[in-house]
Amino acid sequence: MRYYIGVDIGGMSIKAGVVDDNGKIIKKKSCVTRANESYETIVGDIYGLCKSVTEEAGLKKEEITAVGMGSPGTVNSKEGIITFSGNLNFRNVNIVEEFRKHWDIETVVNNDANCAALGEARFGAEKNVTDAVFVTLGTGIGTGFIIDGKIFEGRRGEGAEGGHICIKMGGERCTCGERGCWEAYASATALLRQTERAMKKNPESVMNKIAEEKGCIDGTVPFEAYKQGDKTAEKVIKTYVKYIATGLVTLINIFRPQTVSIGGGVSNAGDWFIKMIERQTKRHVFGGKINKMPKIVKAVLGNDAGIVGAAAPVMK
Ligand SMILES: [Zn+2]
Repeated sequence: MRYYIGVDIGGMSIKAGVVDDNGKIIKKKSCVTRANESYETIVGDIYGLCKSVTEEAGLKKEEITAVGMGSPGTVNSKEGIITFSGNLNFRNVNIVEEFRKHWDIETVVNNDANCAALGEARFGAEKNVTDAVFVTLGTGIGTGFIIDGKIFEGRRGEGAEGGHICIKMGGERCTCGERGCWEAYASATALLRQTERAMKKNPESVMNKIAEEKGCIDGTVPFEAYKQGDKTAEKVIKTYVKYIATGLVTLINIFRPQTVSIGGGVSNAGDWFIKMIERQTKRHVFGGKINKMPKIVKAVLGNDAGIVGAAAPVMK
């Protein structure tokens, strides 16, 4: 058995874990991200975390084969550079070079969504998938594409921004400044916006009652009301599923993966919701009745996706 370390560098916390060949986390630890400090200090913290998690896993440093890191933002994995990361204040930081000043070991860095995509392809609901699409429906939409077992990242790691494909010309304003992006319709944030609008227009909807009891409108409101048979909620959910499927159809037509994994809080709504997305997508995919349809599955690595995914690119 070989061992690797996966490091998930987030804006709030840094998580590191020792992972084995099967994608199993042996031991994990985390620390607060000192986001206002210099990158040298942060890399020092990352090294400290790696060292102590190795010891706590009962291993010697020599027993670790390689270190993989996942970072938000634009990452040039070939050169080991985090080109830009908004919440870390990193600009053109050669994190691999800096890390190897502390520990001379094979080290790579990749974009965190790309890492999660590879983690899900290897160790997710379906194992050892070579062609996969990964989509997280969260505050925005994150996407990752695995082609022939490898992460697709485009030139200098600037690719794979599937959340910003346009699904409606001149449509809703997106956080990126453009209009009509998939993210502006199918992210969890977009679902909230659609729910609020429907509640205002339909005061009799059960969604208003549920939101009042909760004291807020969150992503679970339309799903709960739908289960109770509320017609307005049903319309919200069905329209939202159409938005999700519209983007998926484009991605499937281009990449023809074996699987599409869906992650993010919204994916926890239940199997019925994933099935609904699958049915709607199948209806519109090119050659849908003849070509083999990819399996649409829920991402399963959850909170561990960051660590396992970060380690996945260095696994032999
Ligand atoms: Zn956009």
